[in-house]
Amino acid sequence: MENCWYECIHGCGTHYPIFDVIYRCENCGGLLEVKHDLNILRERSPQEWKAIFNQRIYSTAWPYGSGVWGKKEWVMPLVDDDNVVSTYEGNSNLFWAKRFGQELGMDDLWIKLCGNSHSGSFKDLGMTVLVSVVNQMVKANKRNIRAIACASTGDTSAALAAYGAAAGIPTVILLPKAKVTTAQLIQPIANGATVLSLDTDFDGCMQIVQQLTEDPTIYLANSLNSLRIEGQKTVGIEIVQQFDWDLPDWIILPAGNLGNVRALGNGLMMMKDLGLIDHLPRIACAQAENANPLYRSYLTGFKEFDPQPARSTLASAIQIGNPVSYERARQTLIDFNGVVEQASEDELANTAAQADRTGLYCCPHTGVALAALKKLLKQGVIKPNERVVVISTAHGLKFSQFKVDYHRNALAGVEALYANPPQELPASYEAVQRAIGKL
Ligand SMILES: *Cc1c(COP(=O)(O)O)cnc(C)c1O
Ligand SMILES: [Zn+2]
Repeated sequence: MENCWYECIHGCGTHYPIFDVIYRCENCGGLLEVKHDLNILRERSPQEWKAIFNQRIYSTAWPYGSGVWGKKEWVMPLVDDDNVVSTYEGNSNLFWAKRFGQELGMDDLWIKLCGNSHSGSFKDLGMTVLVSVVNQMVKANKRNIRAIACASTGDTSAALAAYGAAAGIPTVILLPKAKVTTAQLIQPIANGATVLSLDTDFDGCMQIVQQLTEDPTIYLANSLNSLRIEGQKTVGIEIVQQFDWDLPDWIILPAGNLGNVRALGNGLMMMKDLGLIDHLPRIACAQAENANPLYRSYLTGFKEFDPQPARSTLASAIQIGNPVSYERARQTLIDFNGVVEQASEDELANTAAQADRTGLYCCPHTGVALAALKKLLKQGVIKPNERVVVISTAHGLKFSQFKVDYHRNALAGVEALYANPPQELPASYEAVQRAIGKL
């Protein structure tokens, strides 16, 4: 028996090897997930695992200084170190958002800044695993794979293009036309990907890429492919490690295609199964009101799921109407006593701007998560003395136009309460004195 394999999430018992090109169960069509032989991992005690993981942080010993590959045995032990494609992703900063927390009446609010990563979003965590597995298939197993392809709202494609280029494997990117930022569009272009801008939305691109990857020589990189989830699951483990193996009360994250919430849950669950933690934190998913199928399902107690075309939202990376990982996310939210909240365009933009005024630099999705936090505090679901971690999913610098338009008070449906436009002045000392005199 291998130490990890794919298994159908419907529990129909079918297993598949990791180096097969397969995304769904051939028996029942269910999504697959990577399973690890926990008995092998139990040969080390929880204390031993903690010591190993601590020791690897910031190491240059390839590839263990990566936040993902520092946990290689738990993530993807089947890839040889030589075939790993890594930019030393992960180990991103987790910091106390003291001033913004105080504005909300909290004293224990933390930001996990996943945007501080090679391509500027948490997507690097999963892409390093997926591209490494493909790299091993191509280089060691001599499998014929012409390209790796994905549909994207902008960050998946940036990550895929970077890791594909690092490995020398061609990449194909399907983007919804005019629905990603300039920074996100130029990233795969710069990395040499074949970039196709389609006249549709993300869900439309997703349909086409699934057709395209029925050809086994074109490998699918969307989070339907659970290799992505394996890398992304290190974020929860890393948060606990950064608190010296202590748990926060809540973890809040923005959610779109719903792979990341599943990943977060899987990492924490694995820690519990292996005895590194003795209980689970609660999870809150935050959605944009304009793309809220999970929120609407939550309101029915997860009895109904009604995918609808997503309306336009500033939180473009989560503008998804038919999330591929709905079923995975639903189970995670049940296991973690989770909640779902939503934010309007006005709420997400103003909350991002308010947080920026306390020294953050939020992408709109982080704005959605922080706006959800405010609402959950108001409802009494989250208590002001609880320790809360907000996962900031991308770097604010990828979303400059959002901030430019906000500070010009030019965003539709948003009254920019914190607009801070620059003042244009003649080149005179007196004019400058007058301008700063108001401080
Ligand atoms: C991909 C992405 C998300 C959503 O993650 P899902 O796994 O699709 O739910 C949130 N924020 C940003 C910035 C993203 O790139
Ligand atoms: Zn099955």
